[in-house]
Amino acid sequence: ALVLVTGASGFIAAHVCKLLLERGYKVRGTVRSASKGDYLVKLLASPNFTYVIVPDIEAPGAFDEAVKGVDAVEHTASPFHGRAVDPQELIGPALQGTKGVLDSVQKYNPSVKRIIVTSSVASIMVPCELGTVFTEKDWNTYSPGCVEREGVNAPNMEKYRASKVLAERAAWEFVEKEKPSWDLVTVCPPMVFGPIIHEVTSVGSINTSVAALHAAFTPEGAKTGSDAGAASGNWVDVRDVALVHVEALAQEKAGGERYISSGGPFSWQMIYDSLHALGHVDGLDVEHLPKGTPGSDKDTKYNVFSSKKAETELGIKFTPMGECVKDTLLSLKGYGFH
Ligand code: NDP
Repeated sequence: ALVLVTGASGFIAAHVCKLLLERGYKVRGTVRSASKGDYLVKLLASPNFTYVIVPDIEAPGAFDEAVKGVDAVEHTASPFHGRAVDPQELIGPALQGTKGVLDSVQKYNPSVKRIIVTSSVASIMVPCELGTVFTEKDWNTYSPGCVEREGVNAPNMEKYRASKVLAERAAWEFVEKEKPSWDLVTVCPPMVFGPIIHEVTSVGSINTSVAALHAAFTPEGAKTGSDAGAASGNWVDVRDVALVHVEALAQEKAGGERYISSGGPFSWQMIYDSLHALGHVDGLDVEHLPKGTPGSDKDTKYNVFSSKKAETELGIKFTPMGECVKDTLLSLKGYGFH
């Protein structure tokens, strides 16, 4: 089967492409430039990988050509950063990009069986007291209104969260209204860490979630005291996120479902402790890496995005934190980022 992966040059998408190829799928990636495509051709080194250039995912009919001949779509392209002033910088490509892919499939490829959309726990969470457990039944009913009220002054994370929930909602609404012959699956990860394999040319251009982990292991960005001990959200390994994307395609029963894919809650203290608990690691000077303030998280309460459904229905076993942190740091070192 031939699978279209949009935004193939991204952190998560590069792993999705790699795993799809390992599982015997053919992959067509969309990228914004030939240089990003050529990087992937080298990285993936497979005759079963090709790419097409979609320079602007918001343009009408942007995916019309890309969807022709594919059997399924993994739609991952969407901006994730905290630099947007105008919320539309995020909402435009997230929402229009998602609707655009679905429209193109509907118009030009009736043989598509399934579309998987990379959503986020951003489309699930609402402001709450720590200790809350969220499941796939929950929807972020807060961020779109917040962004509407506050516009450019809305907190940056709310602009991003609004972009994700508006895009995911639009996808489910499309299915309800158009009753397409394909079915939809959405994947909702929290902060994604894990080894980078996509093209990153400088520390400043590391993708947002890995950049946060990288920073926490630099002398300037290392956390201590209550900053280290505080609840920081949930985390997951990128290889597990890719696996959920592939199982969501491979398993018939996933059709019409939403899957949280989370390794669990974290504080930066937990991240530091998980690495140091490994003791010696070949290639890393663990002893001299930040340790936080051990014990700073002993009374911390966390919100949890429950992965039970992905575990029980799709059979996913999530990677332990120490292994993820170690492999992330080793990959960063391999790129020359210290
Ligand atoms: P990356 O920034 O590495 O990847 C984003 C991808 O989207 C890239 O291929 C990028 O293309 C493309 N993209 C970004 N902005 C635009 C735009 N305006 N127009 C067209 N394409 C664009 O991040 P991730 O891999 O982390 O993100 C992938 C998906 O996962 C996104 O949907 C994100 O919301 C979601 N996600 C990520 C989480 C995380 O912690 N990393 C958590 C939850 C969800 P290019 O390479 O050309 O810039």
